[in-house]
Amino acid sequence: MFTPFRFDPVDLPQSARTLRDRVRAFLAEHQASWSPWLRGHSWNGFDREFSRAVGREGWIGMTWPKSFGGGEASMIERYVMIEEMLSVGAPVGSHWIADRQSGPLILRVGTDEQRKRYLPPITRGDVSFCIGLSEPDSGSDLASVRTRAEKVEGGWRINGRKIWTTNAHLSEFMIALIRTAGTPQDRQAGLSQFIIDLTLPGISVRQIKDLTTEAHFNEVTFDDVFVTSDALAGREGQGWGQVNAELAFERSGPDRYMSAFPVLPLLVDAVRQAGSDDRLAARRLGQAVTEVAVLREMSLSIAGMLQKGEMPNQEAAVVKDLGVAFEQRAPELVRELIEGVASRTEGDDLREITSAVLQQSPTFSLRGGTREIVRGIMARGLGLR
Ligand SMILES: Cc1cc2nc3c(=O)[nH]c(=O)nc-3n(C[C@H](O)[C@H](O)[C@H](O)COP(=O)(O)OP(=O)(O)OC[C@H]3O[C@@H](n4cnc5c(N)ncnc54)[C@H](O)[C@@H]3O)c2cc1C
Repeated sequence: MFTPFRFDPVDLPQSARTLRDRVRAFLAEHQASWSPWLRGHSWNGFDREFSRAVGREGWIGMTWPKSFGGGEASMIERYVMIEEMLSVGAPVGSHWIADRQSGPLILRVGTDEQRKRYLPPITRGDVSFCIGLSEPDSGSDLASVRTRAEKVEGGWRINGRKIWTTNAHLSEFMIALIRTAGTPQDRQAGLSQFIIDLTLPGISVRQIKDLTTEAHFNEVTFDDVFVTSDALAGREGQGWGQVNAELAFERSGPDRYMSAFPVLPLLVDAVRQAGSDDRLAARRLGQAVTEVAVLREMSLSIAGMLQKGEMPNQEAAVVKDLGVAFEQRAPELVRELIEGVASRTEGDDLREITSAVLQQSPTFSLRGGTREIVRGIMARGLGLR
């Protein structure tokens, strides 16, 4: 049956507008110390002290219950706070994954003991989480994971390997999808999630360099790693369903269209300063602003659905697909409109940020599920497969 994607409009409440002013004032105090190169890394920029400062403002886990360190704010308020952070390229990476998906997962499926243990330090910005889904032979075909946990007395023994794990080398914990029963051919059945302390004996983390020559992601090997029974997150064998609910959070936020956003205001300034009556530039910038405005309304609409407790996987897939295409075009737009090269050493904010964004942009349509996989989800929603 044909099911159209639904994007109901959302009005920003006054509380969100007031919060926006507070976040802007906070960012104005911090942003002078960030290099354009760091700002070009957007939500991948890692700065534990900055995350602690964000935590002191109450902006990590801000929608979570107060009893676990949260602020019981609405999803819309959280959206506005994040939007402000991303618009200036704030280095939110240290708390990003825990705030976006690990914390919400623990809140939803964890035990009270796990909530008490993990959520308050996340809200203070004291700990980082990473996501252990992909494996050397299981990326898009996630259900075929081979890393295995066997039940032993008092807990589980884990063997296997995860790859492309963002910030594993800087994180205290990983939430990993692991096979606890059956074989990779069993697909979704027999998968479970574990919260793993990355300092445990038997875990080794190897950094992998990307195009920027920096190493943000890693290969993580588990060699007979013992975890106690309370490391299991949610129910044994229910990992597949849990991960898919988590992906609605991973794919739906403003981070799926704003990674390149800090380039745009600088580009507008540069075109304006050039002073000529450049009709091509005006047309291209107008197009870009229109796209941002539409993506923002769609993404905000998803925050509204999450607020109502809905799981907008389909709509999130649409925003991710359109959003990453926009992010990937942004540095190309700079190259089209501005003379000269994008380089880290140009001593010019626009060129330096563009250089960082350009070198990362091929990954935008891979991380969080590739373009083809996301389109497959949309096709399923449309009843085409
Ligand atoms: C910057 C970055 C950060 C990442 N961080 C993490 C992380 O923190 N944790 C984590 O677990 N993973 C992470 N990943 C991994 C990411 O999720 C995977 O790269 C992605 O899921 C694709 O898997 P793969 O690399 O194995 O490619 P493959 O699955 O081998 O895909 C290769 C190509 O084939 C296409 N393809 C595959 N299957 C199909 C199909 N059925 N139909 C049509 N086309 C298909 C894909 O779209 C792709 O173009 C990260 C990746 C990047 C680039």
